[in-house]
Amino acid sequence: MPELPEVNTIKNQLNEVTPFVITSCTLSKVADSIVHTKMDKLRGKTILEVSRRGKMLDFILSDGRHLLSHLGMSGGYRISETKVTEKHTHIQFKGTHEGQEVFIAYVDPRRFGHMYLYNQEDAQKKLNELGIDLKSPDFTYDYFKKSLLKYPHRLLKVTLMDQSLFAGTGNYICSEICARGFVLPGRLVSSLKEREIKKLYTAIFTVIDGATETGGTTFAGGYADTTGSKGGGVQHLVVFYQKICQQCNKTEVVKTTLAQRGTYHCPKCQK
Ligand SMILES: [Zn+2]
Repeated sequence: MPELPEVNTIKNQLNEVTPFVITSCTLSKVADSIVHTKMDKLRGKTILEVSRRGKMLDFILSDGRHLLSHLGMSGGYRISETKVTEKHTHIQFKGTHEGQEVFIAYVDPRRFGHMYLYNQEDAQKKLNELGIDLKSPDFTYDYFKKSLLKYPHRLLKVTLMDQSLFAGTGNYICSEICARGFVLPGRLVSSLKEREIKKLYTAIFTVIDGATETGGTTFAGGYADTTGSKGGGVQHLVVFYQKICQQCNKTEVVKTTLAQRGTYHCPKCQK
């Protein structure tokens, strides 16, 4: 599932073809299971820029509207000079960038992705359901601590996964943050000491920046960027999908299920 580093990579690649003047938009027969609002052809409109909050992509249109796009489990974009014919292409924009014909296609085999075409106000409302983005300068230690302690009786991983607090986290990122913060993901938030909260905060940047630099992380063939290539972020992982903890280099990683998702930790490094 694409998490912040992956979505950020896609956003940067999409911006390589903005401004993008739309000449047509084609929807597959089942695209309405992804697009939850009325969608029009958008002919003549320009995608000025693609922005991002958490895992939500925000296509800013020249008529003031926003096309919000969440990739769900398996969604992704392709950018191509020719029409994209890949299976599971559900939305395809034909258009031009700097006079060149370009196709931007949304591909989603499992169709858990979501899209909304909104006016400015509704787009803002939707984006405001998300907490502060992990890469935003407003994501301060004070914000992190305050948000974490908002639900003291929750498990650490459950709160870290909460998009209304921490926009952009996800399953693999949470395992990695806990590992690099040396804290067990199943700890009660109320049991965390100040120094542990500080370590977790620092760990977020190590995890996010490490994975962003390598263009995102791919597991089991899930994620691909807009050129169809896989991310290389897996080399940065210390516990997720690892047999031996990459921090102490000797302890076997333990896999559990937390918040309904596979969760990995090192029983030696993490308390
Ligand atoms: Zn370890």
